[in-house]
Amino acid sequence: MSDNNLDQLYREVILDHNRSPRNAEPLEKPTIEAEGFNPICGDKLKVELELDDKKCIKDVSCQSCGCSISVSSASIMGEEIRGKSVKEARELVEKFRAMMAGKEKMESDTGDLEALEGVKKFPVRIKCALLAWATLAQGIDQAKSGKVDVAKTEEDL
Ligand code: ZN
Repeated sequence: MSDNNLDQLYREVILDHNRSPRNAEPLEKPTIEAEGFNPICGDKLKVELELDDKKCIKDVSCQSCGCSISVSSASIMGEEIRGKSVKEARELVEKFRAMMAGKEKMESDTGDLEALEGVKKFPVRIKCALLAWATLAQGIDQAKSGKVDVAKTEEDL
């Protein structure tokens, strides 16, 4: 596939997630909640996780309000972390940051995560793509530091 076709495909993935964001409904009983705001663009979002057995992400909600990059990134993130352990999700955040910094390539289960890599070419939009991930990391880190009832040791997570 040529680079142009690839860009087109990635654009389609982002537009599709923006048109119909996945996991946008609030959860009834979230275990972890965090809110994020990107003042540069005005993107806002709330991430909620429901944990199973205090360590596996049973359900996820990303309620976002912002530009297409922030909304689609949140939607794609939700699809990626559902069913993963909290530890795996936290590691994925660091991988995503490394991808946006051009240091790492990612391969995702859905193939959608790769679509966001193109955003790194537009430095001003990187914060839009990172917002959901930074908010997820903040929620997990706060939970681990004791604000929420979640397994706290590295072994547990
Ligand atoms: Zn934005």
